[in-house]
Amino acid sequence: MLRVLVFLVLIYLVARALWRLVYGIAEGLSGADRKSPTAMPLVRDPVCGTYVVPSRALTAGSGRDVQFFCSERCRQKWTSR
Ligand SMILES: [Zn+2]
Repeated sequence: MLRVLVFLVLIYLVARALWRLVYGIAEGLSGADRKSPTAMPLVRDPVCGTYVVPSRALTAGSGRDVQFFCSERCRQKWTSR
């Protein structure tokens, strides 16, 4: 009975190790795709000079003249001048 138990634990450990290996490889492969969002170009806040991610930044203006800001305060400074 004890032998069976030890055998089961061994199988469990081996399976877990294998799973980790497979998971690690899969993660390594998908890591190449994950680089694209971080490689997104940053834009400079013209008021304080902070670099911001366009998708998260506040904007002012339109068309080609869009400016990106780190905060509402910077945007107001820009629009009020
Ligand atoms: Zn700013």
